[in-house]
Amino acid sequence: MRVLMIAPPGAGKGTQGALIAGHFDIPHIATGELLRDHVARRTALGQDIQKYLDRGELVPDQVVLDMVREGVVAAKAAGGGFVLDGIPRNMQQARALYLIGRELEMTADVVLHLLADDGELMRRLLARAALEHRSDDTTDIIAQRLALYHEVTSPIVSWYRDRGILVSVDAMRSADEVGREILTALEAMRPLLDHVPAHARLSIDLTSLGDAFGATDSTAGKTD
Ligand code: ADP
Repeated sequence: MRVLMIAPPGAGKGTQGALIAGHFDIPHIATGELLRDHVARRTALGQDIQKYLDRGELVPDQVVLDMVREGVVAAKAAGGGFVLDGIPRNMQQARALYLIGRELEMTADVVLHLLADDGELMRRLLARAALEHRSDDTTDIIAQRLALYHEVTSPIVSWYRDRGILVSVDAMRSADEVGREILTALEAMRPLLDHVPAHARLSIDLTSLGDAFGATDSTAGKTD
């Protein structure tokens, strides 16, 4: 089972990602965790990326893609499943991730989209701030992260819907209820994933979406 999670900050990606990983015994690759780990260990990369995290801005695509490629290579060696949480966050990342998946024969089977409204997300993140002290859990920076999600991340969802691999879940309920619905949906899909060969499921080649899917001049022909 290979799952991508797309969700606004505070919707529960981390919690539900860990649940899915435990249930299917697959690695949980969380980009935010990988980035915060570099900051905590004070690596050279960590010092470069800290300012992006503190401002609630996206870290440069290539930094995240390199980390994720490493994680996907390891996931392939470990049996082929994964839960990716935190990527893609923009169309360029969606396209690059798809190309990595094609190259490694590790494209996603399912994209899980968690839905919650901004008021609830702000309340949850401020409640978490009181416990965890993440540098980006302040009112201003949360507002910035939510705006970024609506502007650049949420438009990606429709491409996965078109590709027929999107599962949307109402994340306004308790973590337990959301988790049960997610596992029920994924379990229902499991026979299909186990028995339908991967090539038969790749109905739409996302690279053909060209510019609209975040291609740059060097990676796809422009129409104008
Ligand atoms: P949240 O979804 O609550 O913002 P994450 O832990 O997923 O939490 O991400 C925290 C921060 O890490 C983001 O605000 C961003 O700065 C950085 N980040 C995580 N994933 C990516 C990504 N795919 N591309 C760029 N930056 C990322």
